[in-house]
Amino acid sequence: MSLIHHFINGQESADAERTGPVFNPATGQQQHDVAFASVAEVEAAIAAAKAALPGWRATGLIRRADVFFRLRQLLKERTPELAAILTSEHGKVLSDAAGEISRGIENVEFAAGLVHLLKGEHSEQVARGVDVHSVKQPVGVVGAITPFNFPVMVPLWMVTSAIACGNTVVLKPSEKDPSASLFLAKLFQEAGLPDGVLNVVHGDKVAVDTILDSPDVRAVSFVGSTPIAKSIYERAAGNGKRVQALGGAKNHMVVMPDADLEGAADAAVSAAYGSAGERCMAVSVLVAVGDVADDLVEAVRSRMGALRIGDGTDAASEMGPLITREHRDKVASYVTGAAAEGATVVVDGTTQEFDGDGFFVGVSLVDHVKPGMKVYDDEIFGPVLSVVRVETYEDAVELINANRFANGVAIFTRDGGTARRFEFDIEVGMVGVNVPIPVPIGAYSFGGWKSSLFGDSHIYGPESVHFYTRSKVVTSRWPEPSESQINLGFPSNH
Ligand code: NAD
Repeated sequence: MSLIHHFINGQESADAERTGPVFNPATGQQQHDVAFASVAEVEAAIAAAKAALPGWRATGLIRRADVFFRLRQLLKERTPELAAILTSEHGKVLSDAAGEISRGIENVEFAAGLVHLLKGEHSEQVARGVDVHSVKQPVGVVGAITPFNFPVMVPLWMVTSAIACGNTVVLKPSEKDPSASLFLAKLFQEAGLPDGVLNVVHGDKVAVDTILDSPDVRAVSFVGSTPIAKSIYERAAGNGKRVQALGGAKNHMVVMPDADLEGAADAAVSAAYGSAGERCMAVSVLVAVGDVADDLVEAVRSRMGALRIGDGTDAASEMGPLITREHRDKVASYVTGAAAEGATVVVDGTTQEFDGDGFFVGVSLVDHVKPGMKVYDDEIFGPVLSVVRVETYEDAVELINANRFANGVAIFTRDGGTARRFEFDIEVGMVGVNVPIPVPIGAYSFGGWKSSLFGDSHIYGPESVHFYTRSKVVTSRWPEPSESQINLGFPSNH
């Protein structure tokens, strides 16, 4: 069994006093050990990042951009290899893994435009002979902590912009599927990134806390579950750092009575069960408005039996296993407990049988769900779709706005006026109109509201340039020596 190493200052290393298991979720077998970094190893990674900072921030913008152009090419060429790594540790099907990589490449493309993104402002002659200009400078060493569900895309959300802006990074990926981050770090190196600019340390709370408490780390980006996001935000902000901590989700999809029912059912099935529901933008609640409910539930149910669940390396599979046995059992418990809460289990995927020891579960549909039931209140993060029936558009908006999560939401309607009103009324960070998973393209920023994001900057895109830079404003004058005089008054521009 091979040991997955850290990547510090351009080299793989691991003292491996502590390790964790990495499974293939499709077989249920452990395939690797991953080293868990000690405090000293994380400190070494932070020191490497700190040492690399002066050189990297002084590197010309065009040369920095070159790294991203090369990285884009390498990622395209190596997509099959990286997708295979991703599938073997995460479980998602190969086509989905390749899709994740292509969305991550959008962030690389955005970063390649850094020469444009880092332009400052200039005001000539604010007073006689006085000009003002602003510059964007890196914040310093950035800590990046990522979840298991997008082991390529989420690290790329962070490290691309952070590095483009002249920072250096210590990345702590999920210990459940760590190999993709190591692969990415080596690809960056191959693309010409100097050693020490991107370091990867694996591990658990020990590694994370060392990053959060280090005075040399100036900003922290986190993506993961809400309780951890909140604690990361509080600890890092308490230590005086900039923090953006993206949390969990419960994404609703509203279906209005005038919607194209067949299209809405296709979208709901795709968005609820794709990647086994382990997406922070997965649709987990279908909100059926008015008399659409019975037909909608039937349209969704009728599509579920045909979904092919199996090993993600099999091209015929549309959905793979869950990440761990424990997570699979927890997901199943929401379905088996739903009837006792008063809901109707229309399709019970927990009874589906699979060959072997993989962490598979079938797809479930639960109707007549209401707030107050665990199946509604908790983020399940599995292939379970709940249906909440409401009378009116206003009821749908009230339900969603009362939810503590506010990551993504969608409305399906043929009425432009209703869609526009929804966009205005809804208190959620990302909205889809007839689009079930509205993940913004790389030129916009990604983020939820309320318990789905702690901090005030969304991730990637323009807000990431703001997050990963400090602005400095310079006021300058070049007086003729003869004009010099003493004046103790406050500088005035008049
Ligand atoms: P998680 O919160 O368990 O772990 C995320 C990261 O935090 C990992 O690197 C993990 O090692 C670390 N961590 C875990 N416990 C910790 C602790 N006590 N102290 C310090 N660090 C700790 O999340 P996960 O299970 O890997 O990912 C799934 C979650 O991520 C879901 O809730 C999902 O909604 C969320 N997510 C959110 C977004 C978003 O953009 N909002 C995107 C992807 C995933």
